[in-house]
Amino acid sequence: MLKIVESPDPLLNQIAEPCDLKDKSLKKLAKQMERTMYATDGVGIAAPQVGVLKRLIVIDVSPEDVRDPLVLVNPEILELDGEPETDEEGCLSCPGVTVPITRKPWARVKFFDLDGQEWEIEGDGLLGRCLQHEIDHLNGITLFESASPRERIKALKAYEEAKRMGAKPGDTSTEARKVR
Ligand SMILES: [Zn+2]
Repeated sequence: MLKIVESPDPLLNQIAEPCDLKDKSLKKLAKQMERTMYATDGVGIAAPQVGVLKRLIVIDVSPEDVRDPLVLVNPEILELDGEPETDEEGCLSCPGVTVPITRKPWARVKFFDLDGQEWEIEGDGLLGRCLQHEIDHLNGITLFESASPRERIKALKAYEEAKRMGAKPGDTSTEARKVR
């Protein structure tokens, strides 16, 4: 498992570089990110979260007992649609907290697979939200930047407390940590 970069590491606020589609090391990186995502019960992970400033994300929003990872190289949001919805989001890089984030529910995203073939994916619900959250990471945006100013203040306070309690990547609340 790769080490997860945790907020407030400034690396999380940097813009990631596009991947070279011929870069053979991407397959290994994607595999390692996949393993790290499953080990921490995440539904998505972006390369900057493991310290690599490249535009690559792995997501798996399938039911918990199914493993169906999707690797997106150089993903790009083409379209967002729908009435904005607010939902709690957690993040491997901000352990111990969830933050209410308002997003348009539906997203259409262009990406390349590890063989350099171009695809599009679209969806709402968890998929639409997860795509936007992970692509935010490639643009240096974490939960704290996505939250409204008022929620940001609350979230940063909760995060400080969670860190003090020893929250680890994969923990979504300090309560959960206590029962584990
Ligand atoms: Zn995240």
